[in-house]
Amino acid sequence: MNNKIIALNHVKKNYEKNAVLKDINGEVHEGEVICIIGPSGSGKSTLLRCINQLEKPSDGEVLFNNDDLTKMTDKELSKLGEEIGMVFQNFNLFPNMTVMENLKLAPMRVKKMSDTEAEKIGMKYLTRVGLADKANAYPNSLSGGQKQRVAIARALAMSPKVMFFDEPTSALDPEMVGEVLNVMKELADENMTMLVVTHEMGFAKKVADQVWFMADGYIQEKNVPAEIFDNPQEDRTKEFIGKIIGD
Ligand code: ADP
Ligand code: MG
Repeated sequence: MNNKIIALNHVKKNYEKNAVLKDINGEVHEGEVICIIGPSGSGKSTLLRCINQLEKPSDGEVLFNNDDLTKMTDKELSKLGEEIGMVFQNFNLFPNMTVMENLKLAPMRVKKMSDTEAEKIGMKYLTRVGLADKANAYPNSLSGGQKQRVAIARALAMSPKVMFFDEPTSALDPEMVGEVLNVMKELADENMTMLVVTHEMGFAKKVADQVWFMADGYIQEKNVPAEIFDNPQEDRTKEFIGKIIGD
């Protein structure tokens, strides 16, 4: 097994009296693809945000390469922003900037790259997502699928060690889902470590090394996709899989 890159030990998150994450435990190894599935409101987004410290967990440890992120100062954490790339449902591109300006922003501001260097890296990743010809376009002239591929290229331009995706295809028209999933599959094939919250069960079946099923504030079941989908053990998992597979 490859190096452990993330470990979650008894992670909890409450909003006031609402216990959203009750006791989350899990490990992510280098090169692994973990798909997180589960009903709406089960805490999937909160979990990603508690790992990358966009939210502070109420309790527990989040180890990243053996450092406990929950104990770090904001300054130490800002370096972490460079290690975890994040792709959201709604792209979060800056509409007043061209695609290339969106891509260059963080490498220049955060990594202090020169304009020329940032442009070179930006073009490398735009090419990788098949959008080299859109460098000078504005986001609003792109389709949803193209916007999301730009958002992926933008995250990759920071050379992250891990990529988080929070329902990256949920806002897309159906005919654009495939192009985004293909880019994600290519990343997985190149051994990127990925945590993917998704409702795309076909993708999870094909690409995930492990599927985590979340409900009621817990990871109810973790297993390889074939087991989760075809041989779920917990009643809660059976019920959810039954509903989405529709039997
Ligand atoms: P999922 O991504 O699985 O749909 P979320 O993590 O978004 O679930 O939300 C889980 C629960 O946490 C929901 O009940 C939601 O209302 C609550 N929640 C999420 N973020 C906040 C917040 N910033 N303040 C208060 N409650 C929140
Ligand atoms: Mg969510």
